[in-house]
Amino acid sequence: MTDPTDCKICGMLHAAAPEDVVLDGPHWGVVAMQDVPGMLMAFTRAHDRGMGSLSDAAAAELGPLINRLSARLTANGAFERTSVIYLGDNAVHTHFMLLGRKPGDERIFDNAPLLARFAGKDRDGARAIVADLRAALGEPAATHPISA
Ligand SMILES: [Zn+2]
Repeated sequence: MTDPTDCKICGMLHAAAPEDVVLDGPHWGVVAMQDVPGMLMAFTRAHDRGMGSLSDAAAAELGPLINRLSARLTANGAFERTSVIYLGDNAVHTHFMLLGRKPGDERIFDNAPLLARFAGKDRDGARAIVADLRAALGEPAATHPISA
């Protein structure tokens, strides 16, 4: 485990003004980012290795947390929807940005490294991963929704 005193996210939470902290829970923290309205960072409180290493409690809270935050961000009309941008390349906490989106906002993933992956299309490889994930979830083999 990383020394918390050297951890950017632990340090960020410690240094955050109380007015910027949305949640300081046992499994997740959520803080406003860079004074940008509707831009939040959510992060596990434990040091982990990213998605797939969440504690059961953190995993159980993840979906409801995203859903509740998103619902609230859009409830008053300030945002029409939200986007979740997963990070995790540079910290020992699973963390992601939750970004309130307004009509006409630029598409988030244009020109992002994510798009570079489209150059490596591999249908068979992609479908093999889908089949493996379905098996791991105990889902039956894929069938077309219309013929199911
Ligand atoms: Zn930390």
